[in-house]
Amino acid sequence: MKREQKITLGEMRESDAPDLIAYCTAKGCGHWVIVSADKWPDTVRISDLEPRFVCSKCGGKGADIRPHWPPPRMGVNAR
Ligand SMILES: [Zn+2]
Repeated sequence: MKREQKITLGEMRESDAPDLIAYCTAKGCGHWVIVSADKWPDTVRISDLEPRFVCSKCGGKGADIRPHWPPPRMGVNAR
């Protein structure tokens, strides 16, 4: 089973993703939340944070965390 490589928060911020999106891994829950990564240093890996998350909906431990990029600003420069 090959798992997607998890980057550090520093690498994530370099790719212009200021936030994390955490998905609850409990079966049938489907809860997800966007979390600011400001409180953790650049050296922390996303995979280090995953076991520390507790779902606020079902109380399940662990999350699948990915970088969260802001929505594309479509149409901003449209004339
Ligand atoms: Zn949950």
